[in-house]
Amino acid sequence: MNKLVHCEDKIKANWLSDFGNFNRLPQPWREIDVNEYIHKSFSYCVQYEDFRQPLDAKGGFTGGLYIYWYPTYGIGVRPPNKWKLKDGKIVYTEPFKYYYFGCEHKYKELSQENCRKAGIYHAGRCYHVYQCSQCGNIESQDSSD
Ligand SMILES: [Zn+2]
Repeated sequence: MNKLVHCEDKIKANWLSDFGNFNRLPQPWREIDVNEYIHKSFSYCVQYEDFRQPLDAKGGFTGGLYIYWYPTYGIGVRPPNKWKLKDGKIVYTEPFKYYYFGCEHKYKELSQENCRKAGIYHAGRCYHVYQCSQCGNIESQDSSD
C-alpha cells in the first residue's frame, strides 16, 4: 500500500531533455494508444504522480493531464473535457488521450570489462548491464533469480 504525499521534486532524469512545468509538457513526448498506455502502466511501479494543465501553441487551455513517472519514462492520460449525461450516466463526447514521455530507449548490453573500465557496478556471470545508446541510461538485472 502506498500513501501519496505532496512534494516539489522534479524528475532528474537523463532520459528527459526538459522536465517542463505546470503549463508545459515534459520533452520529448509522443501520443500513444490505450494498449501501450496499459502495457507501460503495469511494467514497473509508479514513483511519482503529477498533474498539469499544458497550454497549446496559442496559450489556450487543453485540459488536465495526469502524468505517472516510472523509473525510466513517464506516461500520461488526459481525460476528455466534453461529456454529457445520458440516462443518468456520464457519456464522454471526445476521446481520452494517452502520452509517453522520455527517451525511446535502445539498450545494448555492456560486458563486465566495459563496466569495470567505466566504473559501473557489475555483479558477475548472471548479472546483465545495459546502456541506452540514445540517453545513456543504465539498467541492470540479475538473471539468476
Ligand atoms: Zn534512452
